[in-house]
Order: sequence, then structure tokens, then C-alpha cells
Amino acid sequence: MSDYYSILGVSKGASQDEVKKAYRKQALKYHPDKNPGDNEAEQKFKEISEAYDILSNEQKRGMYDQYGPDAFKAGMSGAPGGGMGGFSSMEEALHTFMNAFGGGGGGGGGGGETIFDSFFGFNSDPRSSGMRQGISKKMNLTISFEEAIKGVEKEATITNYTNCSSCDGTGALKPDAVKTCSQCGGAGQVHQTRGFFSMSIICPGCHGKGQIIAEPCTTCRGSGREKKKQRIQIKIPPGVDSGMRLRMAGYGDSGEGGGPPGDLYVYINVRPHEIFEREGDDVIIELPISFSEAAIGTKKEIPTPTGGNARINIPEGTQNGKVFRVRGKGATNVHGGGEGDLLIQVVVETPVALSEKQKDLLKQFGKLEGSHNSPRKRTFFDKVKSLFS
Ligand SMILES: [Zn+2]
Ligand SMILES: [Zn+2]
Repeated sequence: MSDYYSILGVSKGASQDEVKKAYRKQALKYHPDKNPGDNEAEQKFKEISEAYDILSNEQKRGMYDQYGPDAFKAGMSGAPGGGMGGFSSMEEALHTFMNAFGGGGGGGGGGGETIFDSFFGFNSDPRSSGMRQGISKKMNLTISFEEAIKGVEKEATITNYTNCSSCDGTGALKPDAVKTCSQCGGAGQVHQTRGFFSMSIICPGCHGKGQIIAEPCTTCRGSGREKKKQRIQIKIPPGVDSGMRLRMAGYGDSGEGGGPPGDLYVYINVRPHEIFEREGDDVIIELPISFSEAAIGTKKEIPTPTGGNARINIPEGTQNGKVFRVRGKGATNVHGGGEGDLLIQVVVETPVALSEKQKDLLKQFGKLEGSHNSPRKRTFFDKVKSLFS
């Protein structure tokens, strides 16, 4: 008998995790389902399964480490785990494999379902294939800035699969054309035996539905569904912004086999506004003012995105870029977080196209100008001076 450690290709000090991984890798290679009729692979599969059976059990492994393979020879039945005589049958080997990775039966360790699926190519839950949720749909919707701020209701046409109106979704021409599937007796799944174990798979006769339609509905050709155009109302809440997504539950395709319908996802695109701009729940507006207004101060009426005006007071000496905040006049937070603000950003314009008289007045003003009139300019030149001194 060869060494169990070298059969699995692990070191003597290998952890249980390493032992399991090594077995898994080898079992995938030599499993009889992958090597039908290959005696050598069968022998190899029995060998690695036997090695795994011993090394995965701390007690048996301890015996093996102490006494070698003789510990499991027939006749030593007094020893813990005794009576082991090596795997002579494939059933034993497959049983070990099932205990290590198999689902049903509770013997499965982590990752068991994955190895199983790849082996037998079926879904571990047969019912899930008979009952399916309808497909969800996407749609793009462009709205104006005002509509986004105030909220709006839009009409749209969607095309979905719905339950066929002729057969009410049954797919049958008349009610008595639906027969119970004879292969599975209506259960939707059948038992299949592979080697030692048996398992449930989706019934191939009815594809898990449990019923067979003798005379299919002529409108939907038995599918139970038909494509239908539908006018819908889309309620857009105030405060939406570009990139947001509305979910309309149940507005996708209808489900199959009694499954729930899919959803409709409406992707919002908001057209840019000429003067307003969104930044989260805040709305920004640029307010150009003249040089003299900025210097002396003024009052302004500003349009707000929700309609109506806001009066703001521009104090004397307002600098270019200054932002005034009008609380609660921005966009509504779609998640119920209240209203954003309206941010008014002042742009001070240097006067252009001056008349001779205006130029004269400005020259006179310039002569009276002192460094205290331009605080930033003063600080700047103070810094420059200190740089060269
Ligand atoms: Zn069936
Ligand atoms: Zn129909």
C-alpha cells in the first residue's frame, strides 16, 4: 500500500484544509463521471478517496502516522476506526466524495455546491428553474430643469411580456388541455441515481413545470405570454437629478411559472438650464454686478428655481466671487432630507466701452484712491516687498 500523503500530494504536516483542497483537486480529475470506462482513473479515484478518508479524520490520521497502513488492515478491529481494509468498491469512494463535497445529506463542507454543479451540470434548487422572475427593463427619460425641481408626471409607452390574454397565462388552448406530467407526476423533479447516491433533478419532460400542455394556446403558442404595448404614467418626485434611477416595481416582463414580474428602471437625464446649475441639493446661480454696484452696494431680485424671487442685499465693498446663500431655496432632497440652498455667486464686471466723461471721472477717482481701498492689492505688494528686502 502506498503512502497516503504522497497519494494526495501533501506533506506530513499538511493542515486539514490543505488535505481537503488536495483531495478536491484530484477528485475532479479522476471522478468516474469524468472518466467513464477508464479503469485506471477508477483505481486512482478509489485510492485518493481512501487516502482522504484516513487523513481527513484526526483519529485515523493519528493511527496511520503511528502504525502506518497496517493500522487499518482487517483484523485490527479493536483499534479506533478499525476494520478499514482499503476501498475495494466505488460506492465507498463515492460516499467519501459525497461526504466531503456533496450537498444533500448535510455532509458538505464549504464550496461543496460549486464542485457539484461543475460535475453534474444542474442547479441545486430544482424549483428555481420552474418559477422565474420576469426580466427587468431600463429606460432613459430626459426632463427639463424645472421639471426636475418641481417634480412631474410623464407618460411613456413600454413593451412588455405579460400574461397572454387568450389563455390567461396558462399557455393552453382550453383549461382541460393542461395535463399533469407523467414523468414526474406533477412534482417538476425526478430522482436520478448515480453510483451510490441519488438526487433530484429538474424533470426533463416538463422542465420543472409539473404540467404538460396537450393543445397549446394559438395566440401565445403555449408560452403563456404575449408582448403588449402599454401606456404608463411615470411619477417623478421633486429634486431628481441627472444620473438618478427610479424603480417602478412590477413594470418589467411578467414572471414565468408563477414568478414575480420584473421591474422598470427609469434613468433620469436633466437638461441643463441657462442660468441655474445643480450641485447636489444646492442650486447655483451667477449674478453679474457692475463695478460701482459692488463698491457702493445694492439690492437685487434673484429668480429662484422653484419660481418666485428672492431679494438679496449686496453690501458695499463686495468682492468678485463672493457667494450669498439663500436657505431652503434650492432643490428638494429626494430622500426626504429637506431643501437645499440657492447659492448666488457674484461676478463683478470691469466696465467696458467707457465714454470720455466716464473715463475722466474714473481718472479723478484714481487720484483719490488709496491703498486702503484695495485690501488685497495692498497685502500682495506688502508680500512682494518683503520678498526683495
Ligand atoms: Zn415533469
Ligand atoms: Zn395564450
